[in-house]
Amino acid sequence: MSDKFTSFIHDIIDQDLKEGINSKKVHTRFPPEPNGYLHIGHAKSICLNFGVALEYKGFCNLRFDDTNPSKEDVEYVESIQEDVKWLGYRWDDRMYYASDYFDKLYQYAVQLIEDDKAYVDDLSPEEIREYRGTLTSPGKESPYRNRSIEENLDLFERMKAGEFPDGSKVLRAKIDMVSGNLNMRDPVLYRIQRANHHRTGNKWCIYPMYDYAHPLSDAIEGITHSICTCEFEDHRPLYDWIIENVRNLNSRPRQIEFARLNLSHTVMSKRKLRQLVEEGYVEGWDDPRMPTISGLRRRGYTPEAIRDFCERIGVAKAVSTVDIALLEHCVRQDLIFKAPRYMAVLRPLKVVIDNFPEDQVEWMDADNNQENPELGTRKMPFSRVIYIEQDDFMEDPPKKFFRLAPGREVRLKHAYIIKCERVVKDENTGEIIELRCTYDPQTRSGMDTSGKKVKGTLHWVSAEQAINAEVRLYDHLFVKDNPEESKDTDFKQNVNPQSLEILKSFVEPAFAEAQPGGRYQFLRQGYFCVDPDSSEEQLVFNRIVSLKDSWAKMQKKK
Ligand code: ATP
Ligand code: MG
Repeated sequence: MSDKFTSFIHDIIDQDLKEGINSKKVHTRFPPEPNGYLHIGHAKSICLNFGVALEYKGFCNLRFDDTNPSKEDVEYVESIQEDVKWLGYRWDDRMYYASDYFDKLYQYAVQLIEDDKAYVDDLSPEEIREYRGTLTSPGKESPYRNRSIEENLDLFERMKAGEFPDGSKVLRAKIDMVSGNLNMRDPVLYRIQRANHHRTGNKWCIYPMYDYAHPLSDAIEGITHSICTCEFEDHRPLYDWIIENVRNLNSRPRQIEFARLNLSHTVMSKRKLRQLVEEGYVEGWDDPRMPTISGLRRRGYTPEAIRDFCERIGVAKAVSTVDIALLEHCVRQDLIFKAPRYMAVLRPLKVVIDNFPEDQVEWMDADNNQENPELGTRKMPFSRVIYIEQDDFMEDPPKKFFRLAPGREVRLKHAYIIKCERVVKDENTGEIIELRCTYDPQTRSGMDTSGKKVKGTLHWVSAEQAINAEVRLYDHLFVKDNPEESKDTDFKQNVNPQSLEILKSFVEPAFAEAQPGGRYQFLRQGYFCVDPDSSEEQLVFNRIVSLKDSWAKMQKKK
């Protein structure tokens, strides 16, 4: 077993293996409900379930928990498969649907009725809730609880045959209306719902409840360890009850709970993410600001970074919120050596080098990543007109400003030292539109014979050969650490109105070969990924993260 990823879950599995439970096998599953796109919280569950299976040389199934036809869709089924594969996990031929088991689940329910462990109830949903009691008061038995087995069998079959309207009857387990655990007070197993199912069409008008379908799906598939999030801890007695009371199951899965992932500055529930999509707060499920796997992928996150993140946060029982800065740290760590470092000027300021001959181009040697020589070198054109970053120039700079200012010298990375001679302004607005500079031919990078020392080094691109680029800068989707902090206000009120800034930029010609999905460092600016919106006319980039690593800083302070 890997020693970098251990947890209380591993301890439980080790113990089970030692005791020879479940024939010493480990078989897990990842059971998404296809009612939305997967998010980073699901990634935690995927890494855990598939990871545990790999570590113990077992298997992990992909199972669609599709028992709620009204909210499910094939679009989601497809995106989920794509996301799991992209994260690097394989289910081979082990992809299942809870709906594959509808016939079996029905048979099991008939068995429970035959054993006097389930009954058809005619109470309305409101009455059922009322009869259930509360945490402090016991429940009350339904007047229909003691129907004969024969009557129950007949009614259940007629429920299936479509003789009763939606919501008029349910099948309930006969457990204990005074149990201290509300989940054990005769929970509903089946409901009548006329809805078209994405796989079974109109075959069924009764659908099993999650708490009934889940343990049985696990048992049917021979799952040994059913790992889920802590809100199901109170459901475990019901899970076990179902496994124990359904006859002839050949597997006894064990449910283990862990704390779900919460991430700062975002929301995680699919229901809420769907609202953001449907109400137009973002462009779609794969909007690069979304915490969805498809959003993170489009943004430029790597599967390696996400897996590393999931490993670092680990698994525990206690709920906590992880700072989004850790996720950002992980992608920086992954891209440090991988991403070529090219130059891009995000907010361009034109610079004319007066003593450089017109029509001349000099090709400068530039390494592609000084941390990783394997990425090789390229040539960068240098010419009379270049662009630098607007905020690398100040007309009236404070003392500690080491970049360009009137009369000052800076080095252009991989090129020459230039000096600012004059500032050209728009006559009407006073806005700086151009700098006139001179360069020192003795200072060519790598062959500098001038002995000059300058404090600042700037990135730049040559105007003539530059490629147009749209650069999309993202900030957190929500202004608050915890957008759901107040129960009284809608979380959408905390959406960050400045979460996207779009710039018209220039990038160096080396980007001509860039393909959608390509990841780069823009020197001094951060990591960027080429967006599929790119066209012949212009490249489009998403900023993955800036270079400023607030996570690393926080760790140092500790
Ligand atoms: P959501 O509220 O986002 O819809 P869910 O739990 O209803 O989440 P499912 O599709 O049912 O979504 O989840 C599939 C699996 O992913 C479950 O085993 C669930 O426990 C796990 N999961 C969902 N959200 C998280 C999270 N934030 N952290 C860890 N695991 C999660
Ligand atoms: Mg769910």
